[in-house]
Amino acid sequence: MTTSDSPVRSRFAPSPTGFLHLGGARTALFAWVYARHAKGKFILRIEDTDLERSTQEAVDAILHAMDWLGLDYDEGPFYQTKRFDRYQEVLQQMLKDGTAYYCYSTPEEVDAMREAAKAKGQKPRYDGTWRPEPGKTLPPIPEGRQPVVRFKNPQQGEVQWHDLFKGTITIKNEELDDLIIARPDGSPTYNFCVVVDDWDMGITQVIRGDDHVNNTPRQINIFKALNAPVPEYGHMPMILGPDGQKLSKRHGAVNVMDYHEQGYLAEAMINYLARLGWSHGDDEIFSRQQFVEWFDTKHLSKAAAQWDPKKLNWINAHYIRQLSDEQLQQAVAPRIAKRGGVTEHVNLPAVLNLFKDRAETLEQLADNAMLFCKPEYEVDSALYEQFITQESKTVLTHFLQKLEALDDWQAPAINAAIKETLQDLSIKMPALGIPVRVAVTGQKQTPSVDAVLALMGRDTVLERLQKASQA
Ligand code: GLU
Repeated sequence: MTTSDSPVRSRFAPSPTGFLHLGGARTALFAWVYARHAKGKFILRIEDTDLERSTQEAVDAILHAMDWLGLDYDEGPFYQTKRFDRYQEVLQQMLKDGTAYYCYSTPEEVDAMREAAKAKGQKPRYDGTWRPEPGKTLPPIPEGRQPVVRFKNPQQGEVQWHDLFKGTITIKNEELDDLIIARPDGSPTYNFCVVVDDWDMGITQVIRGDDHVNNTPRQINIFKALNAPVPEYGHMPMILGPDGQKLSKRHGAVNVMDYHEQGYLAEAMINYLARLGWSHGDDEIFSRQQFVEWFDTKHLSKAAAQWDPKKLNWINAHYIRQLSDEQLQQAVAPRIAKRGGVTEHVNLPAVLNLFKDRAETLEQLADNAMLFCKPEYEVDSALYEQFITQESKTVLTHFLQKLEALDDWQAPAINAAIKETLQDLSIKMPALGIPVRVAVTGQKQTPSVDAVLALMGRDTVLERLQKASQA
């Protein structure tokens, strides 16, 4: 099937009231993968009808995060605020068809109806005063009062759908109130706009967070009233923190872009977020392409997912190791620059290679690489005093002579010089390793001395060792 033949059209419909959080990113990913697997279309819709809470910054943040994650869309972004005329058109049609009606009850009256129902031991609800029925006479319209528009929800029967994540869900219509679909000022309400949009955009799969499960039977009823094809629904179980509570800031960063900042790779995030809603046997590591190819609805998780930072780090470390020298350099160089590091005189790929097997994030890698990228050599005077002693100066002087004699400034040759020095002076490695590290790098701990010295460069090493041995 070619792209255009596939009937599948899924969408991501964020409300731009803040950054893209992990849950939203995971929802976007699953809506995206559904379309990509089926070679269908993925549509982005910005649900910005809440004018007070929606901001352009949030729109930009969402677009930026999707771009970083590589969640490309085929259509959109469509903005609900640009579609008010269309919502009005559908509202008018429903009023004409009798699937919606004007309701003049005030909020206070509706509250009183709810209280009355509760007092009778019934579910609090609007009592249907303004609901037209054959043979029913409606009350006289109160003067000067602006009505809301209510959807005429069926009173009998039930709504059922086969949820992609949760299995079959059935709700009795008698559980559902006549929903307000337009406010007194005529502005359409959320559930109504979503239905009109999903209908107009030809959406076949609605994948969203399970905080929307309660909206779904109402939305399905509106679809039916419009004689519109009802999409398939999938409500993703929420993400819990490591303590089993709903994932929140308490558990660490929840903004996807914070993970970018902290040095996580988009590919690692995709892999990890995919595993928070779907499985492929025991596979923990799979590429974006494999996810697209292997994706199926049979292995979607029914249960809430648990955020596991250790596992994310493990996956990120894997993807860091997979990067080519060039990719690694591109990813880490700006982070080094941010730290005030300079890389002109540094063999950066070699430096990064030295650390990459142990790095869980690009930030760690940049921290480590700074060993070679400090604009100026800084000695830690406390360390210097502690480790550059009379005794260690003798060691350094001896070692310096060996190094000065080397023609070949490579790790194996330096290693041989180390071994000879240890043997000549009958000392163990720490007696040489620590003072050399402190003298040359200003740090007590580094990767293996021979590799560090090789990368530091002959002139720098000899100069610093001379300085220390004469200190
Ligand atoms: N705008 C809603 C949200 O951000 C999503 C609605 C939907 O996907 O139907 O939670």
